[in-house]
Amino acid sequence: MDFINRIPRQKSEALFAKAKTLFPGGVNSPVRAFKSVTGAPLFIKKGDGSRIWDEDDNEYIDFCGSWGPLILGHNNEAVRNAIVETVGQGTSFGTPTKYGVEIGELLINNHRYLEKIRFVSSGTEAVMSAIRLARGYTGKSKILKFEGCYHGHVDSLMVKAGSGLVTFGVSTSAGVPQSFAEETIVLPLNDLQGFIDLMSQQSDEIAAVIIEPIPANNGLLLQDYNYLAWLRKVCDEHNVLLIFDEVISGFRISFEGASGHYSIQPDLITFGKIIGGGMPVGAYGGRADIMAMIAPDGPVYQAGTLSANPVTLSAGIATIKQLLQEGFYETLEAKTQKVVDAMESYFDEKGYDISMPHIGSIFWICFTKDRVFTADQIDPKGMDKFKIIHHELLQRGIYLGPSGYEVGFISAAHTDDDLEIFVTHLKAAIDLAYKPV
Ligand SMILES: *Cc1c(COP(=O)(O)O)cnc(C)c1O
Repeated sequence: MDFINRIPRQKSEALFAKAKTLFPGGVNSPVRAFKSVTGAPLFIKKGDGSRIWDEDDNEYIDFCGSWGPLILGHNNEAVRNAIVETVGQGTSFGTPTKYGVEIGELLINNHRYLEKIRFVSSGTEAVMSAIRLARGYTGKSKILKFEGCYHGHVDSLMVKAGSGLVTFGVSTSAGVPQSFAEETIVLPLNDLQGFIDLMSQQSDEIAAVIIEPIPANNGLLLQDYNYLAWLRKVCDEHNVLLIFDEVISGFRISFEGASGHYSIQPDLITFGKIIGGGMPVGAYGGRADIMAMIAPDGPVYQAGTLSANPVTLSAGIATIKQLLQEGFYETLEAKTQKVVDAMESYFDEKGYDISMPHIGSIFWICFTKDRVFTADQIDPKGMDKFKIIHHELLQRGIYLGPSGYEVGFISAAHTDDDLEIFVTHLKAAIDLAYKPV
């Protein structure tokens, strides 16, 4: 197949040159800058279904999906119609709206671990609020997080975090006061002894343990069910809250996210991405007795001028209704499995030391066949190969997020044809990366 897209990307390059004079690094979120791959970022003007188009009119099959929210693909008709209808009545009132009640019911009635929920405007804000709530509820101050888990750019959690931090090799952000970082304890994932030691020594200071139950911001570091279930048990024994950060896994792995997938009840869950249907969103929820601590019911203050924005909620409602349709997740998972099976057998055939860890509709290109549980098991040398693959795929009309530490997403809009094209080009790009020099 010679489907190779060699149209120059001059307009993107010109826009990026100008953007660099306006924004730090030319972008408004760091990983967009293509710093760890090659070339200027694409400036995208349009998306429809599985496809996006850049300003130079190159077409790509998209596997980034705006970094996770677009489980239905781009420009989904029902979501677009809902947005247009709501926006026709105005954009924001700073009052409750019927959309809040509708989405609240849809979520709580269909998620066994959600008793109360509150909407905010980003995943970061959801995590920040859940942490404050955990501290307010327990009267304790320390938070335990795991190396490689990303929880947004909350000050005290940007310690050994994934996503853009790992992509740029900083892992811990400048500007986070030592005194804040001291409130955060960081442990490697899957370190049972380390966890039990810490909990025995310091649980009277630890308000909460926060984890991405499906860590998907530093590669895809799939954990064992037994480990997650054991964390739940140990937290209970030590009166420490367990927070599942499901901003990426929520409504992605199943309607009930990782919590439902593993049947493990966290005390609090944070959400974002998918529930806003492509609009800026975050939410946190869980046990009613804990949520009762939030203002105006309780003493933990948390507010937002544009929280539960009606346009966002309409997009969320239209998305959720489609997710609740019979067989939605099974179909999506089967598509993903097909891609993974095709790639894994190619790796075997060629003797490449690569694998494709995956769960639900999330996949990752992993430059080893060994199962990778922890952030430090990822060999940074794989990122040189990723750079070649990423560049070649762009030329061939396939868009992956521009970092080898980031996962890819399959959406309901990807057709069997799209996935076959993807497999063909991914094979060719990997061949190029493994070609002897
Ligand atoms: C994306 C993400 C966040 C941050 O959400 P934003 O909306 O980007 O602030 C937090 N936690 C996890 C697990 C995420 O994947």
